[in-house]
Parts: sequence; C-alpha cells; structure tokens
Amino acid sequence: MSMERVSAEGKLVTVSDSDIVHLKEMLQVRRKQVCKQADALRDDAVADNDSANWAEDGSDAFNREFSFKMAGSSNAMLNQIDDALRMIDEKSYAVCESCGDKIGLARMEALLFCTTCIQCQSKSEADRAMYGRVTI
Ligand SMILES: [Zn+2]
Repeated sequence: MSMERVSAEGKLVTVSDSDIVHLKEMLQVRRKQVCKQADALRDDAVADNDSANWAEDGSDAFNREFSFKMAGSSNAMLNQIDDALRMIDEKSYAVCESCGDKIGLARMEALLFCTTCIQCQSKSEADRAMYGRVTI
C-alpha cells in the first residue's frame, strides 16, 4: 500500500513551486514550536536544579536528565528543519538523496523534512529486515 497521491493520469503528484512556499511556511511554524518547547524544557531543568531536595529520592534527578534528553531531541529536530530550509534554498528539497527522484507531495507534507523517496525508504527497510535475519 502506497501513501503517495497520484494524479488522474496515474502520475505521482510532486512538489510544485507554490507547494514549496507552503511547505516552507509549515517548516518555519514547526521550527518555532520546537524552539518554544526546547526553551520550556530548559527552564524546567533549571528550575529543578534550584530546588534543594532533589537528592532525597533521586526522582528529580531523573526528571532533570529526562528534560535534558528531550531538549537534545528538540535540537536534533531543529537541525533537520534547518537542513530542510537550506535544501529549499539550494533547490534540492523534495528530491531523494538516494536515487535523485522527486519525492511525492503527500510524503513531504506528512514528513516535512524527509530526504528519501518511498521506494528507497521501503528498500532500506527491506534491507534492514534481511540483515536482521542474517545476524541472528
Ligand atoms: Zn529514492
């Protein structure tokens, strides 16, 4: 089952210039959300640090570590968003980095910063499954 949208002629609907504008806006909105989330997590972590009783049972220490981990994953997402915005500027956005084919609009809308087409993605998943069997 493919999640890609196809046109009436049965062709894959690819990303047009006006779609790029729309996707760029979505990326910028997502970027702001992630930044805000990361800031909130950092504030939480700092607030936890100020409370003196965290050593009592270690749970606050755990929470603090968790917050830092979450902030780390926000940073990873920010990097992906920045990469996508850079690719838009370089006109390499919505192009599969593996086979060079255009990536479908539905896939880009759903994932925003994916860099492989659905064929390459499912191929690499199949490869992984194969390796999984071999290395048991
Ligand atoms: Zn591909």
